[in-house]
Amino acid sequence: MLLVEPIKALSDNYIWHVHNQEYSLVVDPGDATPVMQALGNQSLVAILITHHHWDHTNGVARLKQQYPDITIYGPSSCPFDLIDVRLNEGDTVKFQQLGIEFNVIEIPGHTLDHIAYFNDDYVFCGDTLFSIGCGRMFEGTAAMFNGSLNKLKQLNDETKVCCTHEYTQSNITFARHIDPNNQQLGEYQNQVTKKRINNQASLPSTIGLEKQLNPFLNTDKTWLQQRLSQLTKQSINDPTSAFAALRKLKDTF
Ligand SMILES: [Zn+2]
Repeated sequence: MLLVEPIKALSDNYIWHVHNQEYSLVVDPGDATPVMQALGNQSLVAILITHHHWDHTNGVARLKQQYPDITIYGPSSCPFDLIDVRLNEGDTVKFQQLGIEFNVIEIPGHTLDHIAYFNDDYVFCGDTLFSIGCGRMFEGTAAMFNGSLNKLKQLNDETKVCCTHEYTQSNITFARHIDPNNQQLGEYQNQVTKKRINNQASLPSTIGLEKQLNPFLNTDKTWLQQRLSQLTKQSINDPTSAFAALRKLKDTF
């Protein structure tokens, strides 16, 4: 049986661990120590990198030293130099020992090199889509980032969203500021609070839930554009401007 579990790392990162109790792969290992603890006697076969930031790559060198046979996958334009197989949109990566394969899509915005790995069940989307939020826009443009989120919206509703930070509670607080009367957001907030009190990860979420409740996936909606016009005192009537306004409000929230 295939298991997909978050390994806690650094202050609020998750390194996703995909394994069948014999073979493993990990996504975005920002630290090697918690990965080695989680692996135990399992064989690490691969590392998947979504983008170049240090908190997603810092553990790679030590893991490569420990498990010299692993293959490291990452974006074609990634400045991180330990990548063995460089990937572009449309590429597929297969792991026979795990009986699993992923498709690659390019989702720039947080960084220019950012990619996601997905199949019918999971998407590993790094720092692009978070539960009820999205990553900061360090390198891309609003049009680019909004386009990347639109790509993620095309995945099946049941797809589990395996993102890499525990930001859900603060994202919900912001979303409720944007959409104060949304009862479902209030219910989701209660569920997440219970999980966090018990020290459980709030993730993975699902694409279906994010499409419903994440304001960053609803920049095409008139109600949101009107609300953002009200909050920013500017006329906002297209998805790109709505994304830009929402991201800016969140940056200073
Ligand atoms: Zn990042």
